[in-house]
Amino acid sequence: MDGISDGQISDPNPSSHIFYKQGGPLCVSKGVVGYLVYLRTLPKNRCILFLTRSNAPMKPSTHLDVGIIGGGPAGCACALWLHKLGVTAHLIEGANRLGGLQARSPYENLWLPGVQGRTGQAVAQAFQTHLDSDQVPYSLNQRVHHITPTPDGFALHTDTGTLTPRFVVIATGTLPRSGPFIASDTVLIGPGVDIENTPVEGRKIAVLGGGDNAYDQARFLRDRNAAEVVIFSRSPPRGQTTLRQLIPDVPIRIGPYHADQHTMTINDEYFDLFAVMYGFEAIIPEGLIPDLDNGYIRVNRFGETSIANLYACGEVTDYWHPCVATATAHGIQVAKQISLRL
Ligand SMILES: Cc1cc2nc3c(=O)[nH]c(=O)nc-3n(C[C@H](O)[C@H](O)[C@H](O)COP(=O)(O)OP(=O)(O)OC[C@H]3O[C@@H](n4cnc5c(N)ncnc54)[C@H](O)[C@@H]3O)c2cc1C
Repeated sequence: MDGISDGQISDPNPSSHIFYKQGGPLCVSKGVVGYLVYLRTLPKNRCILFLTRSNAPMKPSTHLDVGIIGGGPAGCACALWLHKLGVTAHLIEGANRLGGLQARSPYENLWLPGVQGRTGQAVAQAFQTHLDSDQVPYSLNQRVHHITPTPDGFALHTDTGTLTPRFVVIATGTLPRSGPFIASDTVLIGPGVDIENTPVEGRKIAVLGGGDNAYDQARFLRDRNAAEVVIFSRSPPRGQTTLRQLIPDVPIRIGPYHADQHTMTINDEYFDLFAVMYGFEAIIPEGLIPDLDNGYIRVNRFGETSIANLYACGEVTDYWHPCVATATAHGIQVAKQISLRL
């Protein structure tokens, strides 16, 4: 297969310029007339740069067995296994790198056997390096905004093209819940790089939420010399006792509170920063939506959803306790099941 002539991804503009270039990944950016889409193809270590106009019509493509949406641990594992099992698959990631939530974690990954001493960001990079070295096809900066059915399978629509595989795997994971807040310099949503990159020394910080992440972040903020850290939890905290024991000096105020982002006050008390730790919610692309359970995609033990040939794996399903090991295992399970059906 030599690039798009095989139709893995549609050409929204038949007269658009298609560049073939030997070698490794290229940096691409949004251009004046549209996007440069970077695709990796098999098996020749060849890259395609695909210039499109964002307002051009899209033509569905053919000859792709599996489209995987989301390049976190679940999607990467699924893509890698499908590739090794000889299935034609393409992974589409909305961000500019693979690794999913791990790429947001500057913390050491203490929970994944075999990677001690490495941060989540290093684990994310290792996923991408592995897919690169095995030449597993993927696209970055491509958010699937819609899934629609076709006579032969599905159409996955991004801003710059359409992928039309027979099977689809949704591996879109989760995002931190923001509640009524809007992320800003003083309101940080969820754990990870945003909060770690924010200066906290000498500042008075309210941590909102009562789970493990609230406890963890309160400890990290205290250890980074915040002047004062207070946890606000509407109901009795659910966080692990062992984590609570690490922060005996951090007060927890339990009960209803009124937090105002505009005045940066909670119950009329001023704080320099809010750290919102309200847990996570599934990211589900629009269009064809399978049955959900509590906001997560319902799957059976094979990763099948309520819609034929539409699979899901990883944190978007809430099938297993969320972590890297379970997400990768789930991606592998789905890859194997699909390969058995082809
Ligand atoms: C700060 C932090 C620290 C953590 N530390 C650990 C740890 O130490 N050990 C551990 O085991 N686990 C840890 N976890 C949890 C672990 O990262 C997750 O359980 C795991 O990443 C889930 O993998 P996933 O592939 O299901 O989803 P995700 O990692 O969420 O990946 C989903 C991917 O899909 C992409 N996506 C979403 N929607 C679309 C779309 N429409 N189109 C294209 N792409 C899309 C997203 O950009 C993302 O890259 C941590 C999580 C956080 C936030």
